[in-house]
Amino acid sequence: MAISIEELRNVALKYALLNVKKFGKASEDAVIKKIFLEYPDLKKEVKKVLEIVKDVVREVNSYSLEKIEVRIKELGIVEERKEEKKEILPPLPNAEEGKVVMRLAPFPSGPLHIGNARMVILNDYYVRRYKGKLILFYDDTIGSEEKPIDPEAYHLIKEGLDWLNVKYSEIYYKSDRMEIYYEYGRKLIELGKAYVCTCSKDEIRKNRRLGIECSCRSRKIEENLLLFKEMIEGKFKEGEAVVRLKTDMKHPNPAFRDRVLLRICEREHPRVGKKYRVWPMLEFSWAIDDHLIGVTHILRGKELVIEDMMEDFIWDIFGWKKPVFIHYGLLKLKEEGAKLSKSKSRKLIESGELTGWDDPRTWSLQSLRKRGFQPEAIRNFILNLGLSEADITMPIEILYAENRKIIDKIANRYFCVLNPVKISLDKNVEKIKIKCHPDYPERGEREIFIDKNEIYVEKEDFEKYRGKEVALIGMFTVLLEENSKFISEEIPYDMPKIHWVSKPNIRIKIMMPNGKEIEALGENSLKELKEGEIVQFYRVGFCRLDNKDKMLFYFAHK
Ligand SMILES: [Zn+2]
Repeated sequence: MAISIEELRNVALKYALLNVKKFGKASEDAVIKKIFLEYPDLKKEVKKVLEIVKDVVREVNSYSLEKIEVRIKELGIVEERKEEKKEILPPLPNAEEGKVVMRLAPFPSGPLHIGNARMVILNDYYVRRYKGKLILFYDDTIGSEEKPIDPEAYHLIKEGLDWLNVKYSEIYYKSDRMEIYYEYGRKLIELGKAYVCTCSKDEIRKNRRLGIECSCRSRKIEENLLLFKEMIEGKFKEGEAVVRLKTDMKHPNPAFRDRVLLRICEREHPRVGKKYRVWPMLEFSWAIDDHLIGVTHILRGKELVIEDMMEDFIWDIFGWKKPVFIHYGLLKLKEEGAKLSKSKSRKLIESGELTGWDDPRTWSLQSLRKRGFQPEAIRNFILNLGLSEADITMPIEILYAENRKIIDKIANRYFCVLNPVKISLDKNVEKIKIKCHPDYPERGEREIFIDKNEIYVEKEDFEKYRGKEVALIGMFTVLLEENSKFISEEIPYDMPKIHWVSKPNIRIKIMMPNGKEIEALGENSLKELKEGEIVQFYRVGFCRLDNKDKMLFYFAHK
């Protein structure tokens, strides 16, 4: 079982107490429904759950009003109430309504990934809260050999943001602003705060380790300016010269000792081609851009310590007003697939192993959309994590639960059988009417035609219940055999219920999160679905119809 008997008893007690308080009498049905909503896996253990619920409800119904209150308090049960509109996250320091400016800085190496969603949603949340301005700023300096820019990513990132309903008011590209970085590079040289270093990579590394200044550090300003000009003009090759910031070669953090501001890279850039060969390091470009575009608050992973220090150091040199840094901890999702990096995904897409950026194994926003995730679910999931600096490891099921809350209200339930075993019935039925969703009668009913000689049930169910009494959901109870015998129209609550598909039916495919396609036999009414519709298949879980011609569904979650 998903939870222990002890816990289950407590959960049942909680719902029974709330139920009895609200209606004067607790009902087994209401309590069971609440339990299944919270722990869908327990549906497999109906008997055990029912046993406990019956017991608990009986007990609670014997309580006096006073005792109910006492027990609710004792157990620390929070009563549901109309949700007051309260802010989930702490306020931003020094934030003034209408004056907050924040930026999203995606590096365009692929579409946004579930791991990027935190950065995006937190920024969007605060900008909305303070009626500020959000800027989409493509962090597209040259990148690296291992992490190149993907020209498609510019569009894919926007697509993901639009889907998440993130509103940005301006778009900038770093690759458009090279002259600005050169200008500020020159200014730092003129102020004697930066210099051109022509040492080799190894020498720089060694000097940093030992805390030794190289001779380049004492070059005259004019000479540095000339060398910088020559770097831009192409007189140096990649690796032959860099511009370094004069921090302190004795700084306690060796990585902060005279960091590189600008370097040569001869690779072609997808937007600006080979127009530029000197490229800024990200922290340098941010120090300049955050000032120039008037960013007031920067949300950033707490591991980006050096980035903070660099921006701070450069702002001090120029005497600029500083934005506020707010840090958050690392979010790890407990799910093997969700760890795939964009560069790895790209390689797998190029080799054809993944179908594209919307392949479920990429965990891109596009892939989540295809699976039937709702943007609101992702938003709620992220905001519920809060804004703490502590690292968080989250089981992916929490995201699934958020999504389930939303799609359970829109998804109707259908039958499909993965491993069909044919049975027949000894009772004539032409057709049955079945509720589109058992918990939402207002959604109406659908008709299913029955061929009593051709009913398919799940192999697993057949093997488990063969020779026993089971209920065929929506029909009646039978003694399950290859030639099943009708028992009764009545379906007792604690009778095992199995799903089935009759003739006519339709072959469907379901793409699973691991990229494997499974085939199934679905009920005929699936033909009526529209592309994009989300359904819940008994036993399988929630799926979204992605391609109607192929009857291809994408699996979301249980
Ligand atoms: Zn040097």
